[in-house]
Amino acid sequence: MSQKYQAVKGMNDVLPAESYQWEFFEATLRALLADYGYQNIRTPIVETTPLFVRAIGEVTDVVEKEMYTFVDSLNGDSLTLRPEGTAGTLRAVVEHNLLYNSTQKLWYMGPMFRHERPQKGRYRQFHQIGVEALGFAGPDIDTEIIVMTADLWRRLGLTQYLQLEINSLGNSAERLAHREALIAYLECHHELLDEDGKRRLYTNPLRVLDTKNPALQQMADNAPRLLDYLGPESLAHYQGWKEMLTALGVAYKENPRLVRGLDYYNQSVFEWVTTELGAQGTLCAGGRYDGLIEQLGGKATAGIGFGMGMERVLLLLQGKGLLPASPAADVYLLNQGTGAPLYAMRLAQSLRTAGFSVIQHLGEASFKSQMKKADASGALFAVIVGEDEICAGQAVIKPLRTDIVQQTVALESVPAALAALMN
Ligand code: ATP
Ligand code: MG
Repeated sequence: MSQKYQAVKGMNDVLPAESYQWEFFEATLRALLADYGYQNIRTPIVETTPLFVRAIGEVTDVVEKEMYTFVDSLNGDSLTLRPEGTAGTLRAVVEHNLLYNSTQKLWYMGPMFRHERPQKGRYRQFHQIGVEALGFAGPDIDTEIIVMTADLWRRLGLTQYLQLEINSLGNSAERLAHREALIAYLECHHELLDEDGKRRLYTNPLRVLDTKNPALQQMADNAPRLLDYLGPESLAHYQGWKEMLTALGVAYKENPRLVRGLDYYNQSVFEWVTTELGAQGTLCAGGRYDGLIEQLGGKATAGIGFGMGMERVLLLLQGKGLLPASPAADVYLLNQGTGAPLYAMRLAQSLRTAGFSVIQHLGEASFKSQMKKADASGALFAVIVGEDEICAGQAVIKPLRTDIVQQTVALESVPAALAALMN
């Protein structure tokens, strides 16, 4: 017997029963992004490894242990499957000089790869929709981005299941001052730190606070707060953001512990979280990264963006029964007898041209078994052609979901008759 193959662990197939749910969600997103003036950008799934190390930061979960990195055997380059979308997007923006005399509002959607322990809402290939707004200093764009995501939850019917958490990370000088105080504090609690914490104490102490380890929560809660180290400019930015959100009726919770897992963030950061999905409760996360474009070789430019885990949003939509069923075809076209397949195929094409979706029965089968398939397909109408109809140049229209009786009409009148029945 020949061998059967399986998908790679943590990488999922999306089968027809579920793929319409993805299409529905993607269509909702595309409409939303167009309404807010974002344009699509498509970058490769593979980038050179140093790009991610530089952009995301050496001492982060992603770079330390989650990247799929391999050597290009043709030239020895180190390449990485993208673990997130911002680095590649900004690389493209700088490479193609898209910010020359211009701002950009960009979105991307597609697979990301992280070597994590697979569980509900956490996969090794997962999908993100993300945006990057470049050249806007805020806090108006910070607000618009929140308003846009809130609008998405409204369009999807998810508003009641999501809470917004916000924080400010200040600028790099403020983070440096806080860092010293934080290191001193963590040194006093050295014995409490787990392995990751001990390792990061001096390299990335802020990340020690971003722990999911319950034993460290109290220690983290009592640590010096970055918020207390912000200067007047950062505070004004943060205050301006909060005031606009309040004025627009967007509820938020300030979370001084929110630091985000990637190094590039500064000033405004936020997460949309839900309590409905267990530990994988962050659906959308983002913030400002004003220094990043310069770090990647571009001109210093303000930037803000977010990444949204599409599987997690879909899990929530599925759990709450908020996804529409896949739409059925308008017509199932039954045919039997000499010449019927060709006659039916011409009819099917004329119906499609007139705007109907049509499933033509393919292959030989009794009318009875074809009718069963028509019923099961969910189609609204059966259109039937047999030898008698062919001789007379006609077709039978049989409504499948109402009590309206079937009718026989001339071939050229089928589209009009169907249209009349559908109104
Ligand atoms: P987490 O704390 O859950 O690991 P993260 O901070 O690593 O998340 P980001 O890098 O901010 O996540 O990515 C943005 C969003 O992408 C997350 O909020 C989440 O919705 C989604 N996401 C991240 N990693 C995964 C994954 N392995 N599987 C599915 N979705 C993911
Ligand atoms: Mg993670």
